[in-house]
Amino acid sequence: MADSGLYVHVPFCASKCPYCAFASCTRLGHLAPAWRDAVLAEARRRAGSFGTFDTLYLGGGTPGLLDDDLLASLVTGLRRALPFARDVESTIEANPADVTRDRASAWRAMGLDRVSLGVQSFDDDDLRFLGRRHAASQAAAALQALRGAGFTNVGIDLIYGLPGQTLATWRDTLDRALSFGPAHLSCYGLTVEPRTPLARSVHAGRVVMPDESRFEAFFLETSRRLAASGYVHYEVSNFALGPRSASRHNDKYWHHVPYLGLGPSAHSFDGARRWWNVRGVEPWLRRLGQGGLPTAATERPTAEQHRLEVLAVGFRTSSGVGLPILRATPGWQAILDAQVADGRLEVADGRAVPTVRGLLVADALARAFA
Ligand code: SF4
Repeated sequence: MADSGLYVHVPFCASKCPYCAFASCTRLGHLAPAWRDAVLAEARRRAGSFGTFDTLYLGGGTPGLLDDDLLASLVTGLRRALPFARDVESTIEANPADVTRDRASAWRAMGLDRVSLGVQSFDDDDLRFLGRRHAASQAAAALQALRGAGFTNVGIDLIYGLPGQTLATWRDTLDRALSFGPAHLSCYGLTVEPRTPLARSVHAGRVVMPDESRFEAFFLETSRRLAASGYVHYEVSNFALGPRSASRHNDKYWHHVPYLGLGPSAHSFDGARRWWNVRGVEPWLRRLGQGGLPTAATERPTAEQHRLEVLAVGFRTSSGVGLPILRATPGWQAILDAQVADGRLEVADGRAVPTVRGLLVADALARAFA
């Protein structure tokens, strides 16, 4: 059986971005030591459901905000509490405003070998709209600091589909990102999440989002430009400079490999059951402080639910869905032929694999075979 993935949710940010719906708060100094101790307690209590881990992903929130000593004690504590494989991909998400050469060197010394940097844009107007703490120049400085500290596996996160953004300004951002030769790029379309300041601005008419055809144009341009630079479009929003640069950790989510999530709001899958933790930091701390587990809910997917998940996730990746899964759908061959004729799917090695146009409509492909 494949090794499991370990995700740790760091629920702290310096400030809240107006488009963000992730579980995070701004009380870092006050809560971080208790959070670290509780993550280690949760690791010890959950360890029995999993085998060996070959990924550690510190996500959030803003893990790069954490004090070096606190982070080092967390990483050391996790290595003591859980069994790790010899070769572990260890990722930290960071905001460019927090990355210095010293901090990057400290991360290397802790054994972290991959950084996912939330650049979002190389255009200062875009960054202001997104409410980010950093300017484009800081993103460039952070990338240089990471390289200087010896990180070769760096991913850059970008966002497209901003109001007022043009294909020309987006191409400039892509080209600036490419100039740093990142191993990995994640390019997300901006979505309006319910109950965020952005959602309120859109509903009040203060912000007008681009329509679907604009998003499509950004998506196709992104795929085309990155493919021309040697990146493999291996998931709807993810691009790797060769197969070894794909995110080993995220691949577990997309291929139904077990993963353990620690921290408020974290999700887990042990191969049969899924569960997710309570969302708030304080309720999560309270449950662990009382000696229990912070689980909000658990479910055991039926065989049919599992099949639907395989469809939903498989059509989002370049490995697609095996034909035996599709055969459970009445009329599957006619549906497949129609999608192939429309240029959304190709059949290769017994799998239905989405084309770039297919990745664009991955949800519709899954529904077609549901
Ligand atoms: S830094 Fe990231 S997690 Fe924190 S508020 Fe902004 S988008 Fe959300």
